[in-house]
Amino acid sequence: MIKLENISKYYAGTAAPALSDVSLTIEAGTIFGILGRSGAGKSTLLRCLNRLERPSSGRIEIDGRDIATLNTAQLRQQRQQMGMIFQHFNLLHSRTVRNNIDVPLEIAGVPPKVRAQRIEELLALVGLEPFGDSWPSQLSGGQKQRVGIARALAAEPRYLLCDEATSALDPETTRSILDLLANIQRQLNITIVLITHEMSVVKRICHGAALLEHGQLIESGTLAQIMARQ
Ligand code: ADP
Ligand code: ADP
Repeated sequence: MIKLENISKYYAGTAAPALSDVSLTIEAGTIFGILGRSGAGKSTLLRCLNRLERPSSGRIEIDGRDIATLNTAQLRQQRQQMGMIFQHFNLLHSRTVRNNIDVPLEIAGVPPKVRAQRIEELLALVGLEPFGDSWPSQLSGGQKQRVGIARALAAEPRYLLCDEATSALDPETTRSILDLLANIQRQLNITIVLITHEMSVVKRICHGAALLEHGQLIESGTLAQIMARQ
């Protein structure tokens, strides 16, 4: 479970806060959407969750622990619990699909034999079995995002954070990636947090969502509650 209590974030040199007194709870084992226009504070919120950014005030609890109190080793462990996928996939172009997926496993110091086995499982999970030796440049956008998802899941995180994960994809590919995320959530029973500016994304797969405007939480709750406020 993720719990945000009265989170505010002021960036130096800016007048308005990027986040203003935001409190919300994300239940474990759900898909939670953070919806808002460009500049609403969504990325800031996501970056606070994996401590790439520190809130100016407030408290973030992940699985019962205040993340501000984590030491370096605990923070590294916590970050391994948080897979991330990105709008522009962020693949390494000089590495094959297999070797992209291998990155977090290598960093975690997993033995080569276990890694090789795990990579095959991940390729199957995202439907890319025939593409292990392909290069990112040979793949479609949807296939690249599947690699991104496999890589994000490699170290067996409890959370998957998605930063506008379908914004660079056409509508049909968007639907297939969202359906894949929904399947993965059910299969692995992980918690998915996704930020998006598109209501259609939230509608398709989210169990709950929050609506941000100018750094303020306008609504947080079930899909029906969010739709009523849109
Ligand atoms: P969103 O992801 O919803 O587009 P952001 O969290 O990126 O929103 O931005 C929220 C606000 O904070 C915007 O006004 C943006 O310009 C500002 N902002 C974001 N990152 C920084 C930063 N590193 N320094 C200063 N201002 C920032
Ligand atoms: P997005 O909306 O896709 O998240 P942005 O264009 O808001 O991307 O931000 C891209 C990068 O620029 C981020 O790292 C963010 O922190 C930074 N950034 C955004 N707004 C500002 C700002 N006003 N001042 C300084 N850095 C910013």
